[in-house]
Amino acid sequence: MWSRIFVYCSRFGTFTKHRTIITVYRDYFETSIEYLKGVGPKRAEILQKELGIFRFRDLLYYFPFRYVDRSRFYKISEIAPDLPYIQLKGTLASLEVIPGKGRNARMRAILRDDSGSVELVWFSGVKWIKDTLQLNTEYIVFGRPGFFNGKINIPHPEMEAAAAAREKSGGAFQAVYSTTEKAKTAGLDSKGILKLVRTLLENYPGKIGETLPPALLDKLKLAGADTALRNIHLPSDPESMQKAMFRLKFEELFFSQLRLLKTRSTRKETSKGYILENIGGVFDRFYHHHLPFELTNAQKRVIKEIRKDVLSGKQMNRLLQGDVGSGKTIVALMTMLMAIDNDMQAALLAPTEILATQHFQGISELLEGTGLNVKLLTGSTKKPERKVIHEELESGKLNILAGTHAILEETVNFRKLGIAVVDEQHRFGVAQRARLWKKNEDSPPHVLVMTATPIPRTLAMTLYGDLDVSVIDELPPGRKPIKTIHRYDLSRQKVYDLMEQEIRKGRQIYVVYPLIEESEKMDYKNLQEGYDQIRTAFPAYHVSIMHGRLTPENKEYEMRRFVKGETHIMVATTVIEVGVNVPNASVMVIESAERFGLSQLHQLRGRVGRGAEQSYCVLVTKHKISQDSRTRMETMCRTNDGFEIAEVDLALRGPGDIEGTRQSGLMNFRLADLAKDQKILTLARDAARWVLEEDEHLEKPENRLLVKTLEIMNQGKTNWSRIS
Ligand code: ADP
Ligand code: MG
Repeated sequence: MWSRIFVYCSRFGTFTKHRTIITVYRDYFETSIEYLKGVGPKRAEILQKELGIFRFRDLLYYFPFRYVDRSRFYKISEIAPDLPYIQLKGTLASLEVIPGKGRNARMRAILRDDSGSVELVWFSGVKWIKDTLQLNTEYIVFGRPGFFNGKINIPHPEMEAAAAAREKSGGAFQAVYSTTEKAKTAGLDSKGILKLVRTLLENYPGKIGETLPPALLDKLKLAGADTALRNIHLPSDPESMQKAMFRLKFEELFFSQLRLLKTRSTRKETSKGYILENIGGVFDRFYHHHLPFELTNAQKRVIKEIRKDVLSGKQMNRLLQGDVGSGKTIVALMTMLMAIDNDMQAALLAPTEILATQHFQGISELLEGTGLNVKLLTGSTKKPERKVIHEELESGKLNILAGTHAILEETVNFRKLGIAVVDEQHRFGVAQRARLWKKNEDSPPHVLVMTATPIPRTLAMTLYGDLDVSVIDELPPGRKPIKTIHRYDLSRQKVYDLMEQEIRKGRQIYVVYPLIEESEKMDYKNLQEGYDQIRTAFPAYHVSIMHGRLTPENKEYEMRRFVKGETHIMVATTVIEVGVNVPNASVMVIESAERFGLSQLHQLRGRVGRGAEQSYCVLVTKHKISQDSRTRMETMCRTNDGFEIAEVDLALRGPGDIEGTRQSGLMNFRLADLAKDQKILTLARDAARWVLEEDEHLEKPENRLLVKTLEIMNQGKTNWSRIS
């Protein structure tokens, strides 16, 4: 094996007569990196360990993280402290080592051009650098301007004698690779890597294999794989780099979309679903006699979409997105009624006991007088009650079961589960979803997944690309938008004034404190202090405290008093994030708001504004907060739109940090950035759809490459870049 590879490698460029060129081509990128000219065993080990580069192919796909424009020189007078990396040309006018202990020693140089002078400074490697530099010589200096003691300087610039640079002809537009300290010591700094990449590409005279069908390349005017892969590393100008980048990002996103859509269509083809053809009895009666309000157009539209799904003969897998307060519950309920009309049962799963209980209560209330049998099953359901539930489920006497994961246990058997609604999907694992599917022997139940955390469209496409998506994009009428205000600690009195004013009008108030596991002790202390403070500030009113350490009975007791309006102010942790609905509450004060993420702030705010009066959300922070925190506060004050907030959240945190995305493994793109490349993603989505419309099963010869790529992706063992 080794010797065979060696034969190939030692003969690159002058292909051996014993092998056909085709064979060599195919094997080229699979060659161990050790055999690339300029690597060898020692560097190979470093490339493997430090950068994950094992084969030629890995190097080919080791993309630059930025580029420098070596064609542009800045004038020294143009330098500003917030510029990115820049290039200067000037003469070294002075060079001085400033002695000091250890890291305090530094070297200072002055670079001069015809527009002015700037200081260059080094804190390490001083002795070595000093020896390489010569006074009164022209240098090309490359670095990032900094600001120190009121003066602009450039720390640790790259220096190259101008004369030498002129001799070396390279592209003016150059790739920069990330690397590690250890790799650098072996000569594998960015330039070292670039050199290897150049060798790699120059020694491969063939065309790098295409992965996309020609029709697609044509239609979208994409660069071919060969051009793109060469130009991403060795672009001659920014335009060719951008074209390469576009093509490669597109490719990544296209394959992820193709995979999702293919999974979805395969599942639609193979998984049968109950046809819920009878509709009328309970559904109509509820609609005409029990529904306490007119449905919004968005709610009607979504119900129609669901209706179509359950008549299709295929299993429904639909995601329902809607902002807090958009009225998802009623849609869930009416969906469940479709099952009951067809003599089947329905389940509603929630991630926490509080939420399950609230759903149960809400649904029971709405269904009062319909004669339907609704029950609640959670971890704390007592044995006798549990027994009744099990029996009624099996006999079919129980129509709707609300509950937590307890519903998924194997001992819980339905006579026939027609529809399952899953609330807050992102906290639910895929494995749990699978258990739900197995509840029936013949067909899986239809599944409606609801999420109250709006997800940006692009993320939804990638994360839930295998589900159909419905969006409720309209709030019930008559809601006044919540007014959101940002206040600093120091103006707490103003916050108290607002609270007082609202309580006088008969309203109630939440004051929420952060509670984070890592700082739990401190957080509880703050909560307790906040509670004491408020009691002192509002001696005439009833104040209660609510947190996860209270017993369920105490929680229940406090909650009930608040719901009845007996307490005016509830001081709480985020336990109230989900699960309470008190329309009379009109003020949400969030303490240390800078410690909350955007989506959580938005969720908390959604606890008020449920009634007809004007509601307020007050974000209280310290005076000094980070730029990101400031953006979060400003966003909250600017908009009530959960989707807009989600977009900002995505931009601030990047997709990897958005809840539920990390484990999906779908976010590991090399080049594409879901926050920034939404247009390319949409294009990739459309293209994947277009390909599947033309060739549903990917059987046409021109799509064979696609199938191969998908197979490799599905095996999961290989990074998808390793595809020829
Ligand atoms: P969410 O989408 O956050 O789950 P809910 O389903 O809890 O929202 O609905 C929020 C509130 O709006 C509830 O009190 C509900 O009764 C009410 N609601 C829902 N739909 C409508 C509607 N079409 N008209 C008026 N009120 C509605
Ligand atoms: Mg809800």
